[in-house]
Amino acid sequence: MIKEVLPNIFQIKVPLPNSPLGHLNSYLIKSEERTLLVDTGLNFPQVFDSLCRGVSEAGVIPAELTEILLTHFHVDHVGLIPRFKEISKDIRLSIHHVEVELSKIMSEKFEGYKEEMENFLKSHGAPSSIATNLQGFHPAFFTPRAYQELAVSAFPLEDGQEIQVGDYDFQVVWTPGHSPGHICLYESSSKILISGDHLLPTITPHIAQFMENMDPLTDYLSSLEKTEKLDVEVVLPGHEEIFTNHQERIRQLKEHHKQRLMEITDELRTGSSTAYMVASKVHWDVNYKSWHKFPPFQKYLALGETVAHLNLLEQKGRAKRTEANQIVFYSISEAVD
Ligand SMILES: [Zn+2]
Repeated sequence: MIKEVLPNIFQIKVPLPNSPLGHLNSYLIKSEERTLLVDTGLNFPQVFDSLCRGVSEAGVIPAELTEILLTHFHVDHVGLIPRFKEISKDIRLSIHHVEVELSKIMSEKFEGYKEEMENFLKSHGAPSSIATNLQGFHPAFFTPRAYQELAVSAFPLEDGQEIQVGDYDFQVVWTPGHSPGHICLYESSSKILISGDHLLPTITPHIAQFMENMDPLTDYLSSLEKTEKLDVEVVLPGHEEIFTNHQERIRQLKEHHKQRLMEITDELRTGSSTAYMVASKVHWDVNYKSWHKFPPFQKYLALGETVAHLNLLEQKGRAKRTEANQIVFYSISEAVD
């Protein structure tokens, strides 16, 4: 199903099999010289067929696409890259330079990365059914070729870089948080923002930490400040429906994280706790009756989100981190309480 959102900008809804997100939005921007596809879809033959049908309906032969730009390196956005490379080996790929580096790690140093991640999860209290079960969760296990392509051939994008397609002059806006090198595309004269997963109309973007030396929630909140200042009339998100009033949505997202930080702070008041224990107490907006009913993958996501919130609290001096026998505990910071 395609829709011409603005002249020569098409939204193509691509199905996401087995995902509660429903579909991915791919955007095709075309001009005489250049046809740019923003984001692809999961690597399934029927998804590729569906996206190619959309591209054809928009008047472009899929093998003649000149470029694919990725808002970030998550599997539902990059999965189809190898299939496009098969039909058009000169197609140009571009993604933020941080995601190029991550793709290199995924494809070249994955064993070490996986071990580091397992240790991280264990140190935050995850049972081994989650910490050592990454093959069930981790996209690098089921889409290694997409990361190889990005590592080897993607052009690295920079914040502020301009991308001109026909009459449109897009600006790359680096919005780390949902992933470290996430970008949006802003077009100031038509006031549109292609937002990837940085802003979605009803779903709260997943902000999680699975490695040391990151602070994704602080990054995300500053990215929200950055996009809030833009003069935007229409947001073209990576999932769900196109929406307006982006500032209102940003206020809601900030409020959501503020509430969750308060909930987690209250939980820490009951005593020192691992992130996994805190995660089991948080009121998650999911359709499972209790923490015990969460599938392992949901627990893994919830743990990552909880660590991101605890880390922000620690950075702000509102929580204290201690370690015993390689397990990390958080408690309320006495300086504040
Ligand atoms: Zn996504």
